[in-house]
Amino acid sequence: MTTPADRTPAHLLETDRRAGFEVVAGAGRFSQMNDIFTRAFRDERVRTKDTDAFFASYRMEAAPRRGDGFTQKDFALRNAAWLISDIVSERSAAEGLREGFQAPIQADTPVAPERAELGSPEAEAAEIKAVAKLFGADLVGITHLDLRWHYAERPDVRTMEPVANDLPEGLTHVIVMGHAMDAGLVETYPSALAGAATGREYSHEAAIVMQVAAYIRNLGYQAVASMNDTALVIPYAIKAGLGEYGRNQMVLTPEFGPRVRFSKIFTDLPLAVDTPRKLGMAAYCEGCEICARACPVRALPFGAPDFGEEVTKGSPSTWRGVRKWSSDAEACFGYWAKLKTDCAICMRVCPFARPVRGLSARLWRGLAMGRFGPSGRRLARIWERRRGVARRAKPAEWWAGHRR
Ligand code: SF4
Ligand code: SF4
Repeated sequence: MTTPADRTPAHLLETDRRAGFEVVAGAGRFSQMNDIFTRAFRDERVRTKDTDAFFASYRMEAAPRRGDGFTQKDFALRNAAWLISDIVSERSAAEGLREGFQAPIQADTPVAPERAELGSPEAEAAEIKAVAKLFGADLVGITHLDLRWHYAERPDVRTMEPVANDLPEGLTHVIVMGHAMDAGLVETYPSALAGAATGREYSHEAAIVMQVAAYIRNLGYQAVASMNDTALVIPYAIKAGLGEYGRNQMVLTPEFGPRVRFSKIFTDLPLAVDTPRKLGMAAYCEGCEICARACPVRALPFGAPDFGEEVTKGSPSTWRGVRKWSSDAEACFGYWAKLKTDCAICMRVCPFARPVRGLSARLWRGLAMGRFGPSGRRLARIWERRRGVARRAKPAEWWAGHRR
């Protein structure tokens, strides 16, 4: 199942234009062998004692210490939050598959031999969104399958050697689901406690994506459930109209800003697609460098989007097939490894990550998203600078708040 990038169908080029994507024709697909997490197992330039201890800390070798947010209780909550995701990702390890991360989630139910009677593509799209929300998805969008975003190859986790990253023939659409992270936990980044926000959504998304895929297979259509595996989800989420790309390398959604994780389902169910949206959030990023300034290892860029020139130092972990803000993946993951947990300071400090509650929050959003023109956006930036980036809740306060 291959589509050379220089023979991209016209309908995909049209949505590139609407999404503001500048894609290099014939750039070639990104190999998951170069993903920083895969390199941490196979590339001695990335793998260190710290990266090994980072992965081990998610099992029984947690790394509790005195600092606020890094106690045994904090690691216990984080690791418990990851549990369901871990069960799914480890169940096929003996076959070389790390489901949900380095291989698609394997089907638990067969495709029904008889196809259900369907309504129009619009009616089916509305129904599938309702089903996804019933199972717990916070956001749902639909777009066309686009092989340019699919990994060229993936690792066999027994050997960490590359293998084909194929999907069944005939898939046409991608259902992208967003899973909102808990705002109170995100406010405590960086900490092991905050990592519970990440783990909780991976566990949620594993269950939700498997259930929605099982529903589609019971209708008699193909459905491949996917989390971080198989394809880059960011371009799919943007194409499905769920948000815009931010300087912190996350999708900024109107509902949750960057405080959201994504899963996806590849299917041949005939569905109406959504279109990319101009929301004014990426435009705000052009004059806002809060995340880049807050990054403790200066891994984020300050300039305009480029082809990976500014901070990546030629890293193979950066895909240069599209103009975008890119990070220094080695510096970023090196910091995670030292912490023994994920860092998402650049998510926490983003003003779009705050829940939109109250009149002043709604007014700021309106100004920042350009509803009052460029001068309104400037005012929003000044307002935000005065607010500062200090944590509004320390991890110990999060625990104390739940004892009352
Ligand atoms: S902190 Fe500012 S620059 Fe960074 S993603 Fe958020 S809005 Fe964009
Ligand atoms: S996750 Fe942390 S280290 Fe990585 S870019 Fe964001 S702020 Fe920097």
